[in-house]
Amino acid sequence: MQEIIKKPRGTKDILPKESFMWQNLENLAQSVLSSFGYGKISTPIFEDTILFQRGIGQATDIVNKEMYTFRDQGNRSLTLRPEGTAGAIRALIENRLYNNTINRLWYIGPMFRYERPQNGRQRQFNQLGIECIGSNDPLADFEVIYVAIQILTVLKVKDLKLEINSIGGFNEREEYLLALKTFLNQYKDKLDEDSLFKLALNPLRIFDSKNSTVQEILKDAPLLSKFLNDDSKKHFHILCSYLEASGIEYSINPRLVRGLDYYTYTAFEIKSNSLGAQDTVCGGGRYNNLVEQLSGPNLPAVGWGMGIERLLLIINQSNDQSNILDFYIAPLDEEAKLISLIVSNQLQQKGFNIEMDFTFTKIQKQIQRASRKMAKACIIIGQNEVANNFISIKWLKSGKQSTIDLNSLDKIKVIYLNELSIYYKS
Ligand code: ATP
Ligand code: MG
Repeated sequence: MQEIIKKPRGTKDILPKESFMWQNLENLAQSVLSSFGYGKISTPIFEDTILFQRGIGQATDIVNKEMYTFRDQGNRSLTLRPEGTAGAIRALIENRLYNNTINRLWYIGPMFRYERPQNGRQRQFNQLGIECIGSNDPLADFEVIYVAIQILTVLKVKDLKLEINSIGGFNEREEYLLALKTFLNQYKDKLDEDSLFKLALNPLRIFDSKNSTVQEILKDAPLLSKFLNDDSKKHFHILCSYLEASGIEYSINPRLVRGLDYYTYTAFEIKSNSLGAQDTVCGGGRYNNLVEQLSGPNLPAVGWGMGIERLLLIINQSNDQSNILDFYIAPLDEEAKLISLIVSNQLQQKGFNIEMDFTFTKIQKQIQRASRKMAKACIIIGQNEVANNFISIKWLKSGKQSTIDLNSLDKIKVIYLNELSIYYKS
């Protein structure tokens, strides 16, 4: 026999049971995003490789070692998108979406990074993200953070920590990088190969290192905050005051730099206490140079990306939701097929969720299946029902059985609600 073909390492199948959670999450997120004026954008899953090289930065882990890059049959270098911002900004520029107004965009979809798979870390994962393009006001930074918190709140995600930092503009960072380089040069013999590479290309990226020796050295490194100019400090201070005014708790993490080169000024992460090592659910910040860097106009912007798999890990821990099946329809023989179809159709039109059994086996077997599927009731349609134009309903929690004439199927809603209220009382 041939070997079973398995999914590629680092990927996951999303099965029907989980799909309900995904849909629910997207619907809830969409309603929050619409209420803040964000419009959905869908961009290709692959883009020209140069977009990510130029947008994200050559010294980042993503571009340096995590990209799925390949040549197509026309010998073009293409890359499966590792994140959503570069594509969204490419689309904004190409479709000339900017016209002196603020562009509020959101996206959801799969991203690809060649990483070591672990709980909460996959090679294909999904992100929900937003971009607010066209304002340099701290109000925009506040808005995107506020939207993230609102989404997490409607999803009932608790125990979150917001960490923020300011990483300044490119000019201030130049000066800081010199100081950081001088500091790190003293520890050259203790740095790993990866950090030495970053030291040469962009020392700021060393902060992304997961190596504990490197992190220990960094504890004494000069802090970027000391190099910020008055404008940067003011921007950050105003953002903090907005967060305080709206009762959003936060802490300042002076070592938070984020793993992408395009960030400027504000950087933030939202972490969860209930996740293990992969504890960041949402990461984002301001990126005032990216649009121009991708040959667009000089437009400041701010946004974030949220890892949906990590989000679902937390939601699954706190509540178990699944699709509600109202009626399991059990035709007992061939003759019951047609009426079963008609009844199913009428119930669906009344807003009920139904599922039909196609095995025509014994009543008890079909009722067992209805219970396993957590249906509220099993509708039984056999010879007697067909001959006399009625259906039998077995309520699975109370065990009660009743009948309804096919001409009075309208009453089923009242009966259903009555049954449910009995469930809740008991
Ligand atoms: P990390 O430090 O965990 O690698 P990151 O800084 O690379 O995260 P971002 O590029 O900011 O992550 O992406 C935003 C969010 O997307 C992360 O906070 C996380 O929730 C999620 N995410 C990133 N990479 C993965 C992955 N490989 N698998 C699952 N989720 C991911
Ligand atoms: Mg990463």
